[in-house]
Amino acid sequence: MPHLIYLTAHNFTVMSLGKAARSLVTPVRGVLRCSASALSRSYAAVAEARAVIEHELETIRAAGTWKAERIITSKQGPQISVDGSRGNILNFCANNYLGLSSHPEVVQAGIEALKTHGAGLSSVRFICGTQDLHKKLEQTVAEFHQREDCILYASCFDANAGLFEVLLGPDDAVLSDELNHASIIDGIRLCRAKRLRYKHMDLSDLETKLKEAQSSRMRLVVTDGVFSMDGDVAPLRGICDLAEQYGAMVFIDECHATGFLGPRGRGTDELLGVMDRVHIINSTLGKALGGAAGGYTVGPKPLIDLLRQRSRPYLFSNALPPPVVACATRAVELLLASNEIAQSMTAKTMRFRNKMTQAGFTIAGSAHPICPVMLGDARLATLMADDMLKLGVYVIGFSYPVVPKGKARIRVQISAAHTDEDIDRCVDAFIQTGRKHGVIS
Ligand code: PLP
Repeated sequence: MPHLIYLTAHNFTVMSLGKAARSLVTPVRGVLRCSASALSRSYAAVAEARAVIEHELETIRAAGTWKAERIITSKQGPQISVDGSRGNILNFCANNYLGLSSHPEVVQAGIEALKTHGAGLSSVRFICGTQDLHKKLEQTVAEFHQREDCILYASCFDANAGLFEVLLGPDDAVLSDELNHASIIDGIRLCRAKRLRYKHMDLSDLETKLKEAQSSRMRLVVTDGVFSMDGDVAPLRGICDLAEQYGAMVFIDECHATGFLGPRGRGTDELLGVMDRVHIINSTLGKALGGAAGGYTVGPKPLIDLLRQRSRPYLFSNALPPPVVACATRAVELLLASNEIAQSMTAKTMRFRNKMTQAGFTIAGSAHPICPVMLGDARLATLMADDMLKLGVYVIGFSYPVVPKGKARIRVQISAAHTDEDIDRCVDAFIQTGRKHGVIS
């Protein structure tokens, strides 16, 4: 390995390390008290780690999968300022489905909570980190989903990391869609239940796996309500039918559904008429519900009680900051009061989908605000996204390994905060760049 050659080819001293490598071993006060040979072994270990990391970084660059981050210098919204680009840019790649991230009432609620309840709790919930604001949000979210109780987490990633280990033991089985979100996969890895992965949205494969799991004590079917790369909706009715037939519970991750899917925006379970047949929901406060941060589980009260006692990301992580909690509460209250915002988002989604299809593009999914413009080739997706930015429209190309090989796309996300003119400008930019690259004629 090249880094080992590097180490042996040098008479290894502290000075033979680069400045950055030396900085990896700070603070050094303790180390400096060691013997010279212990010190050089320690530096050698750091230098080796550095070489391994740099090799890994080079592999990512060489594979063309390096994720660069554009720097936004304004608040989140349909129009943003981006460092290095002139003027306002139309933004079509946030999960700000309802445009609540910078909604004046949501922002104001955060400001007030900052004044009345402070910046943060400096504590986990069960020691001295639970405020009236947390209890109010938990109640409001439970009411929104029409479930018995709710527990908040710092993120939905944490909610997914904390659930399965608590609920399922070695005598149980978990049946998980193969394309479930990474946080579900990680959460399931932490539990000791028998793991059965079924093919993406394939009910017949799910049935086979449910039959296999009949000797287990409990069975839990786990699926994203909406899959974020394609905007496709899980066949929840069929899943609930099978779950009932084979004695299983149903869990859904509603990060890309809460607040806007279904007649009152309650989510995939409402959209498909199975609110009373889905048992546990995890979702996020970091997308449609104000977009700040936070996640939660809603479900039966005994489960939520048990999570408060045992769930590790809840027990061993700081309470959500009061301004974040207040912003989310106001967002959910707005949605409880009216479904007007959700309806306006649906109308704009259909405007975009129809115009793009008429122009000759292929858009995956059906009615969801995630609108993947299918292009196939990874390079084409990147080039087109770059050209769109030059026309003042911010979209992102997705390619392997985030999506399967040959299925590269530009993922467009519609927000209620977009105007019809914004949508039309985005479509026009797609037509211009699509023609340039021969995607449409
Ligand atoms: N689940 C799904 C389906 C998601 O898309 C995401 C976010 O990308 C998460 C969970 C994690 O949510 P959070 O950002 O609240 O950690």
